[in-house]
Amino acid sequence: MTADKKDSWNGSAGSCLCEAVRYRVTGPLRPVIACHCVQCRKAYSNFAAFSAARRGDLEIENPEGVTWFESSPGVRRGFCRYCGSSLFWDCDGLGYVSVSAGTLDQPSGLSLHHHIYVADKGDFYEIGDGVECHAKSHAYNWPDDVMGAEAARGED
Ligand SMILES: [Zn+2]
Ligand SMILES: [Zn+2]
Repeated sequence: MTADKKDSWNGSAGSCLCEAVRYRVTGPLRPVIACHCVQCRKAYSNFAAFSAARRGDLEIENPEGVTWFESSPGVRRGFCRYCGSSLFWDCDGLGYVSVSAGTLDQPSGLSLHHHIYVADKGDFYEIGDGVECHAKSHAYNWPDDVMGAEAARGED
């Protein structure tokens, strides 16, 4: 990506490692939630750092580069078919799509809001950043128009 490309765009954007997949977010991003569940541990090596965007605000520029894996019924995780970068977490019925915070172009302007599924974290690291921890799921309080019926679900 060139500097010019970034300068011509005011919103948030990101990409996978190989940049075959680029996306834009035309609205606000949610603060980052760190998910330490078993699925994220497997997919991300230790934990997942997810921001999120309203479903209608996420524009995937080259969706043919994204492969979707159904990790739970009604939940799919999108990754780059070429380089394997994990990019998206998408649950039926929710008004938002989670976006891997590490794939956002920097500076993201975001900060970590809380940790979830701490009870399931790997045994090779400790969490010592002072950010609030939840043993299992803990939803971020989006405005009502964003959250679907399954607002209480976590990121698993
Ligand atoms: Zn890629
Ligand atoms: Zn998780």
